[in-house]
Amino acid sequence: MNPTALTVHAALARLSAGELRASELVRAYLDRIDALDPTIRAYLAVSREAALEQAVAADERWRAGNGVRPLEGIPLALKDVLCTRGVRTTCGSRILADFVPPYDATVVVRLSAAGAIVLGKTNMDEFAMGSSTENSAFHPTRNPWALDRVPGGSSGGSAAAVAADLAAGALGTDTGGSIRQPAALCGVVGLKPTYGRVSRYGLVAFASSLDQVGPIGKDVRDAALLLEAIAGHDPMDSTSADQPVPDYQAALGQGVEGLRVGIPNEYFVEGMDPEVEAAVWEAVRVLEKLGARPARVSLPHTPYAVAAYYLIAPAEASSNLARYDGVKYGYRAPGGKDVIEMYGRTRAEGFGPEVKRRIMLGTYALSAGYYEAYYGKAQRVRTLIRRDFERAFAEVDVIVTPTSPSAAFRLGEKTEDPLQMYLSDIFTISVNLAGLPGVSLPCGFTAAGLPIGLQLIGQAFDEATLLRVAHAYEQATDWHTRRPPRAAGEAP
Ligand code: GLN
Repeated sequence: MNPTALTVHAALARLSAGELRASELVRAYLDRIDALDPTIRAYLAVSREAALEQAVAADERWRAGNGVRPLEGIPLALKDVLCTRGVRTTCGSRILADFVPPYDATVVVRLSAAGAIVLGKTNMDEFAMGSSTENSAFHPTRNPWALDRVPGGSSGGSAAAVAADLAAGALGTDTGGSIRQPAALCGVVGLKPTYGRVSRYGLVAFASSLDQVGPIGKDVRDAALLLEAIAGHDPMDSTSADQPVPDYQAALGQGVEGLRVGIPNEYFVEGMDPEVEAAVWEAVRVLEKLGARPARVSLPHTPYAVAAYYLIAPAEASSNLARYDGVKYGYRAPGGKDVIEMYGRTRAEGFGPEVKRRIMLGTYALSAGYYEAYYGKAQRVRTLIRRDFERAFAEVDVIVTPTSPSAAFRLGEKTEDPLQMYLSDIFTISVNLAGLPGVSLPCGFTAAGLPIGLQLIGQAFDEATLLRVAHAYEQATDWHTRRPPRAAGEAP
């Protein structure tokens, strides 16, 4: 078996048994990236030499049998919005095309402290704004299940890399769905932690009150392992919570007997793909068979979530992106006659159309005279959405919904219609507005063979229950064991 197909936990078992060497594993991934990534285009950059070097050190630790860390020798991919010291971090943008951070994000420090090896940086929608990875300034990424389709976004490179066995696991970021939606569209597991669970230090900010870093893995156990490595308080991020990090793996295997599972009325909307709806209801039946107790719940402010998000997220983005002015970071346009013209040209040339749209929307929503009517009102809606969840969680332990209203759409299908693109996240956005954890896992396939994602939403800081339910469902089904069809360039 090609070792690139192994889950993180299976690879660890082999490394530990001496049946596999980290350098073998890293080399297998690099070979596969050479063969397949010219087609998939999940990566923006690959750290070949550094990865091989670290693999030799990992093999030394495994051989010595001491100093072995929880992810010793595991090759991972990082979304290119996470700062890596000495390694270009572009955020999928021209404006940061040559930005080399002088420091590592806390999640990167933690992964390397756990022994993981970074294979490279993955493609994404520019500044994480998008749902298809087509807003990357560099190139789109293809869905490994169907090469004419998008992988979702904005963490589309990370999700495609995991689905196509181009990395054992990956990190993504999620502001309105950007881990869960691409995980759903690529048939892998993606978890957005509770706001504050994972440090944002060194994560290039999009919307600071919504952004979270989280894992993308081939199965639920891998997501648990990766989350455990990156979670926990960080003095460098004042919004990171000083909450104990439980042993997430211990939550697995406990079953769902007696657990109350909420199904929100408002999440089964018109316009949803009937194949997605059927798969989600079937998943509810599986959970019921396993002993869970399904119940209807109501989240009445759901219809306002997308509107509130598209005021709050662009408002925060317009403020966060003000720093890209050609002086402090990245690209500077030549030829301006004074500093004002230089700012203008730099931003006009450096940002793509979606980022400009968000900056204009956000600047308008924050402007004097409109602030209360737009930003203020959106914040009040946000509170109502949070209360909806509080009420629902008085009755249930976990909430089940589809992750995305449809399976992977075609490249180019939604690029001309931003509103259609925004609606891809209709089921994921509320979770960010409420600051809650959510996970997407495979729950079936369309007739055309495209993966369908199931979303589980949990209470704040209760990722353990999410993982427990997700694992019980996963172990009762075999969706997670299916692999994408053989792609061009792939060895037989
Ligand atoms: N698709 C949503 C947006 O474009 C969410 C993006 C994200 O979670 N980063 O804003």
